[in-house]
Amino acid sequence: MSVHLRLGGPLTIPAMGPCFMCQRDYLAVVAVGELTRNCGPGHEAIEIPLYACGVCEGILTLLLADALRSPVRPYVPAGHPH
Ligand SMILES: [Zn+2]
Repeated sequence: MSVHLRLGGPLTIPAMGPCFMCQRDYLAVVAVGELTRNCGPGHEAIEIPLYACGVCEGILTLLLADALRSPVRPYVPAGHPH
């Protein structure tokens, strides 16, 4: 099972519904990604869209920004030495 987040993408169409982060319902939410599970013995593949409210989308965006600012591994520029 894996979670794919696509923050601020072109598919962020506002809708009304529950937020997967804060569990509140009947909020203006946007699609921020999906939860997926590959098929295998005993279970079928699933793909569930994840919706988050504006507040939680902001939190996720901040988490992403923090992760990019202090990466776990040092950034190595693309290219090859000559
Ligand atoms: Zn929320």
